[in-house]
Amino acid sequence: MITLTSDTLTRPTPGMLEAMCRAEVGDDVFGEDPTVNRLEAMMAERMGREAALFCPSGTMTNQIAIKMHTRPLDEVICDVDSHIYQYEVGGYAYHSGIGIQLLQGDHGRITAAQVEAAIRPDHAWLPVSRLVVLENTCNRGGGSYYTLDQVKPIREVCRRKGLALHLDGARLFNALTETGEDPAAWGAGFDSLSICLSKGLGAPVGSLLVGDRDFIREARRVRKAMGGGMRQAGYLAAAGIYALEHHVERLHIDHAHARLLEAALRECPYAERIRPVHTNIVLFDTIGWLPAPRFLEAMREMGVTASGFGPHTIRLVTHLDISRADTLRACEVIRGLRFEPPPL
Ligand SMILES: *Cc1c(COP(=O)(O)O)cnc(C)c1O
Repeated sequence: MITLTSDTLTRPTPGMLEAMCRAEVGDDVFGEDPTVNRLEAMMAERMGREAALFCPSGTMTNQIAIKMHTRPLDEVICDVDSHIYQYEVGGYAYHSGIGIQLLQGDHGRITAAQVEAAIRPDHAWLPVSRLVVLENTCNRGGGSYYTLDQVKPIREVCRRKGLALHLDGARLFNALTETGEDPAAWGAGFDSLSICLSKGLGAPVGSLLVGDRDFIREARRVRKAMGGGMRQAGYLAAAGIYALEHHVERLHIDHAHARLLEAALRECPYAERIRPVHTNIVLFDTIGWLPAPRFLEAMREMGVTASGFGPHTIRLVTHLDISRADTLRACEVIRGLRFEPPPL
């Protein structure tokens, strides 16, 4: 099977498995796992910040950040397609007792003017606007990304109005691959950042929350309260270190593969609204009479899997386990599919 379903499907490479097996471990709840400590220090340094916290998932790093930045009855501002709104089970309400103000951005990207207009005036019957969350790259935006120049005015509004700014950077390194920007410049632009190791970077498990030392010290307590304290987590952290050392520089390959898939789709009469491909995600709609499940089934029969993102929306994701040969084969399948409209 050629799995274009998600970049979370990658299996550890032989080199990564070897690094995991050889990891020196201890009990991380006691702060005594040297490999976890090394991964946290490594990510903090790369992002130019004081500290980082290794967590089981990007949902947890986002949820801890939201909890840290808000109090009950506050409100978070984000794009309607954000992962924190769409795919974290309403955790912002469950863990933090807050509301959400949704903006309609451009493929997941919101602007400073939109943020400023969404900030609530100070009234006893209104929630308090407390936090802005940006996503980079934007998953439901089809892998679109922000540049630092686009983020700076948003940060400026947050500073001026006293709101915190968090980055859901699940695929931040995919964005930086395209912009060539410095990770530390991004680190400096946010109060906190979440970065996934288990997406394009190819680790089996794990995300990091990055910020100031005091922020991360308190975040460690929240992680424990959420049940995210792990013991000999160094085996997992070793995979993360390996990913940071070996799998960042190759991300451009996944992006080139995504553009090949995009080009194939542009030849297909059944594909509409193919979103511009920016990174490793390809998003398109099937033509009106072709439901997404029928397309997915036909692809699967030809040995290629993808995911449905709506009744007529399909997402394809390239990743570490998709070779150029796999990509070319998937392109052949995409071009070869024939669908008949239903009889009138
Ligand atoms: C995958 C993802 C997350 C975190 O997901 P987990 O499966 O909990 O690790 C957060 N934000 C975005 C944009 C993602 O794609």
